[in-house]
This record gives sequence, C-alpha cells and structure tokens, in this order.
Amino acid sequence: MTPTSGGDAKRGAQRYFGDPLSMPVQYLKGIGPARARDLAKQGIATVRDLIERVPRAYRDYSQIKPIAQAQNGQPESLMGTVVMVDDRRVRGNLHLTRVIISDGSGTAAGVWFNQPWQAKRFPVGTKVLFAGTVERRGAQIQITNPEWEIIDEESSSDPLHAGRIVPVYPLTGGLNPRDVRRAVYLALQTAADLMPDTIPGPVRERQGLMPAAEAWRAIHFPDSGGQRERARATLAFEELFVLQVGLALVRRQTVVEQAGIAHGPDGEVTRRLRAGLPFRLTAAQERVIRQVAADMESSRPMNRLVQGDVGSGKTMVAVFALAKAVDSGHQGALMAPTEILAEQHYLNLRRIFAPLGVEVVLVSGSLTKKERDANLGLLQMGAAHIAVGTHALIEDRVAFKDLSLVITDEQHRFGVRQRARLQQKGEVMPDTLVMTATPIPRTLALTLYGDLDVSVIDELPPGRRPVGTYWRPESARRQVYDHLMRTEVPAGRQGYVVCPLIEESDKLQAQAATEWYERLKAQYPDVRLGLLHGRLRPAEKEAVMEAFRAGEIQVLVTTTVIEVGVDVPNATMMIIEGADRFGLAQLHQLRGRVGRGSHQSYCVLIADPKTAEARERLMIMQKYSDGFALAEKDLELRGPGEFFGTRQHGMPDLKVANPIADLAILERARAEAMRLVEEDPHLRLPEHQALRQAVKERLGEQFGFILVS
Ligand code: ADP
Ligand code: MG
Repeated sequence: MTPTSGGDAKRGAQRYFGDPLSMPVQYLKGIGPARARDLAKQGIATVRDLIERVPRAYRDYSQIKPIAQAQNGQPESLMGTVVMVDDRRVRGNLHLTRVIISDGSGTAAGVWFNQPWQAKRFPVGTKVLFAGTVERRGAQIQITNPEWEIIDEESSSDPLHAGRIVPVYPLTGGLNPRDVRRAVYLALQTAADLMPDTIPGPVRERQGLMPAAEAWRAIHFPDSGGQRERARATLAFEELFVLQVGLALVRRQTVVEQAGIAHGPDGEVTRRLRAGLPFRLTAAQERVIRQVAADMESSRPMNRLVQGDVGSGKTMVAVFALAKAVDSGHQGALMAPTEILAEQHYLNLRRIFAPLGVEVVLVSGSLTKKERDANLGLLQMGAAHIAVGTHALIEDRVAFKDLSLVITDEQHRFGVRQRARLQQKGEVMPDTLVMTATPIPRTLALTLYGDLDVSVIDELPPGRRPVGTYWRPESARRQVYDHLMRTEVPAGRQGYVVCPLIEESDKLQAQAATEWYERLKAQYPDVRLGLLHGRLRPAEKEAVMEAFRAGEIQVLVTTTVIEVGVDVPNATMMIIEGADRFGLAQLHQLRGRVGRGSHQSYCVLIADPKTAEARERLMIMQKYSDGFALAEKDLELRGPGEFFGTRQHGMPDLKVANPIADLAILERARAEAMRLVEEDPHLRLPEHQALRQAVKERLGEQFGFILVS
C-alpha cells in the first residue's frame, strides 16, 4: 500500500518542465498558493523538501477491528457505513456533530465540536474509516476528532489517514495534517523514483538496506512496523555514510596524500622545558605528549584531537608540541577562540619559553598597528618562533617563514574549514593539533571529528578537589555574596560573579553587567571589584585580566567572556546569577574557572527556575563534576539535535540519524566509508557519482576544499 508511480500526480507534473524533484510544491494537485505559502514557512518549497521531511511519529491504525471489539482508551481504526448524521447546537455556542457508522457488529460515532461542515462530508450510506482513541461508555463507542477516510470502491487511491500506519509530521502553523499527508503522498508519487541512490549497490547489499526510492516511500507510508524500521535504518545509514565519506576524504587529503613535515627527536628546548617544570606531568599528559610527538616525527601530517575536561592540563600538551617544532627549527602557531584566552596563552607561553631563548609573539586585535606589524615581520623573517592569536592568525596577511605546527584551542568554536585555512599557510601541510574541553562521548567524536585521531587526557592533576556546587534561590543571594566577600576574599582568595545571560544583544549584556558591578560596589565598598564584558576594547579587557591575575582585583564581575580557558588558580568561588538560563555545557565551562588550584573551591548557582528542565539541569550540576558524565546527562535531557547546536561545531544537521541511538549504524557507515574512499579516493568511478554529488551538496559548505574539481 505504499504509494506507487502514476495516477493523478503525473497530470499536475505535466505543466512543469523541470526536474520533478525541484518542482515547486504548488504544482502538486490540491496545493494552491495559500498552502504552498504555509509549507514555505516550514522550509518546504519543492517536492524534494516534502519527501525529505520525515515523520516525527506514527499512529498504528492498520488493524481494522469489528466495532464491537474496540477497546476503551486504545487507538483503533473502525470501518463502517454511515447510518445517521446528528448535527445540532447543544448549548449557547457549542455545536456538536456526530456521524454514526455501523459494521454489523456494532455502531460507533465520529464526534466533532464546532465544525458543522464535517456533517456534509459523510452522507448516509458512505463507507468510511474512522481512526483515533476510542472512548467507550457502556455500549456507546465514539472517537473525538477522528482521522477519517472515505472508502470509495471506484478510486484506486490508497487510504492515507486511517486503516494503515499513519505518519505524523512535525509541522505547525496553518497546516492541516491531512493536507500535509496528501502532499507528501503526491510528492512521492511524482518523484520518489528520482531520489538519488547515494549508497552504492554493493554497500547496500552488504548492509541489507533498501533502495532509496523504497526507503523514502516506506518512511512515510510503511506497510508494517518492520518495514518502517528498515526504511529508517536505511536513511540513517545514508546520512551518516555521506558524512563519513566526507570526513574520510578530508582525512585523505590532509593526511594520506599530503607530504608532511617530519620533526626531529626531542632537542635542547624540550629537555630544558621538562627540567624546569614546576610540577610532575600526569600519566595521561605524558601519554598524550608521547602520541603527539610520534605523530610529529612521522612524515605524514598530524591531525589529532586532544580531549580533556576543564583543568586537565591540555596547555602542557600544546607546550611540548611547540617545543618540538622549535627544536626542529620550525615555527608553531596557537590559535584561541577569544582575545582573553589568546592573551592568557601568550603570557603563559612567554613565561615558559622566554628563559629558553624562544621568541613568542601575540597576533590579536588588542595590539596597536605598529606592534602588530612588528610581530608579523618577526614571524615572516623567522625571528619569532611561536605565534599566539585569535582568528586574526588565519587572516591572509599573516605569513610564516616555516610553519610546521598549528594548534587550535577549544576547537568547538572553530569549524573544519577554519582549521583547514590555517593549515594551508604552510608550504607543506603543517601538523595539526586540536584541543577541546567539550566532553563528547568518545564514540561520538567519530561523527564530529571523523577526520582526526583522538587522544584523551582522562586524569586531573593530583590534589584537585571537586568544586562544591550549590544551587540557591534568589532569596539566599545576600548570604552567598557575604560568604564570597566576607570569608573567601579576606582569606586571600578571589572570585567571579557571572551576570545573567542576555542573548539578544552584546550591548544589553554589557549594560546588565555594569549595573551589577555598580550595585555590588555600593554594597561592598571595601572589596576591590573589577568589571569585564564583551564591549570593552581589547586593551581594556587585557588590563582587567592582568589586574585580576595579579590579585589587584579581588572579585571579577563578568559575562560569559570568561567562559573558556581562563586560568587564575587563586580564584576559589564563582557565583552564577540566573543560572537557569545557561545550558549544562556552558555551566560546566564556567565552573571550570574555579577549582584550578589546591584550595577548596565553590560554585553557587543562583536561580529560581521556571521549568522542570531547568530545575533538572541545576540538580545535575550539583551532583556531577565530571564533564563526560555531564555530557551524557545533557544528551539525555536535550537530545543530540540541541546538544550539537550551532554554536558547538560546524557539522550539518542530521534529519533522520541520531548519532547516539544509532551508534551501531554510525560505526558500520564509517567502516564502509573508509573502505570506499580507500578504493576510490576521489570518487571518480561512475557508480559513485550520486554519492559525490551528495557529499558536495551537504558538506561542501563546511569542507569547502574537498571535491573542488
Ligand atoms: P585545561 O585543560 O583546562 O586547558 P590548563 O592547561 O589550563 O587546563 O591547566 C589547568 C591548571 O593546571 C593550570 O594552572 C596548569 O598550570 C595546571 N597544571 C597542568 N598540569 C599540571 C600537573 N601535571 N600538575 C599540577 N598542575 C598542573
Ligand atoms: Mg585550556
């Protein structure tokens, strides 16, 4: 009963002479300009858009039961002949329509309120299907607002709304579910056969998948639960497969086919660095440093992701990699997502490297033009060995004499494409190291960073105590601030006050932070307060951070500009205002600014949450301090779509696949993708052209540099 080609839809299509998949929806029968506009609001313009809009859920109305056996409270499909229509005003402005059907075993009523036009649809004698949740009172059986279908012996058309597994679409607005179902059905009749088969035949057979046309038909109008599952598995596989092929191509082009730089063994700089360390590296740091060194010594370009929770000491891994680049007579670059973080890395690296005779320069918006030009000159001549900066580093004007290593910190802020641009600055492909605190379950890193090797720092430096995290209502605010100002500060500690999140504008956010700062200053005149927000000029931000690091500022009132990377070990208390407005990942990043030294640290979340979900988040924050555990909770709470929200990364949306639930499919798709790219590294074979097209269409934007020809 899945839709087949032919029939009415073809007639509509005849007026349109282009590719039926690109046909605007209003050419479909029954879709006028008004409905087309409603669909457009949902992002549906063409026949293909309709086909690709997969159902959100299904109702199983496939079993048609004798009316007498209909179960109270159950979703059922009932078929019968209309025996009576009862249409009347019951009270003031309540209009009741009842259409009674009989199948010999019993009678049932379809009931509508205030929809008098429904009566005219069902003349006595018409054969109909009603579907919906059955309400049974004694012998009375009824379904309110039933899905309905008129069974016309003449018509060859399939039932769409009852007597089958019925799709439910995630659509809102003025769209009637019946219209959407019919539109999807017509779209399938018109063009399902043209949906490209991106999965090559042999892969499809090995994996037991359906051909594309069959899968698209069955995902909308399945004949059985089993068929629907196979269709879903096919489409999920397809989506993940195309993504994995894209990643495999990137990997091939950046690692396998490129000549890289073979760095030498550890030299003088590395040896002196190690000898001067103020602490012992953790076993996890040592292991990752070894993995990185091995990659760097190989003649293939390194492409490695280092994952480690906040405070795990990722910077040290970067430091050792940079030392190795310098030891081998090359240059290294470290790119950070914010000015503040770039500045901090710069100060830190200069402190470490200057005594070793290694020149570190900053390239960021905080410099005067003169300073900046001077630094660029040093890099170009090779007189500076290490560059630290923001995205300013990927601007074209930055030229290196001999760049062999590119490190990006907190990579969730950078897309694959930006990384690639910086990589292209080397003559030969420089080694690439990406550091992230975004705690992605390891297996998932495959989906997101399938082009990278992954190292995990799964250990915190010794002596760290979990940050005591407490959620307090606004009514307890005074006590909380008193603790910070009257206990922590006099004991020589420092703290952060994070202002409530205002997403709408930077300007409002800065205003709010300023007001907060003024209020606290009036309240605690003896405490040295500082203010930091995104609207300050780079040099001002820098001065504030400098004063905070030096301990001149005791409490820093700030926005989320300090979210990533900021490292002031003497800060032991953070108060997050309006904590219910932040997501888990962001709260965890913020909290990571304290608990970086050996003193017991605290994070107080001030919030009177309005929703159950926000309450849940605050409870989770109190309970878990480990980033990976939090990430898993976050996924449970929000689902993968939200978790991988736009801000986190630059990957394409997944329409069908769920990289968590479909992990097994993901792994199979990845294995097949690697095998295929091995066999046909540029997707030149004729049987791979549909796949090639799909990779280009879906990933061209992010992976701009692949498949250019
Ligand atoms: P993150 O992984 O969040 O970037 P950092 O590299 O900023 O962490 O390190 C956090 C803090 O821990 C820094 O103050 C750093 O000097 C310190 N640190 C790093 N490694 C060790 C270690 N092995 N032992 C003690 N302290 C360390
Ligand atoms: Mg860091």
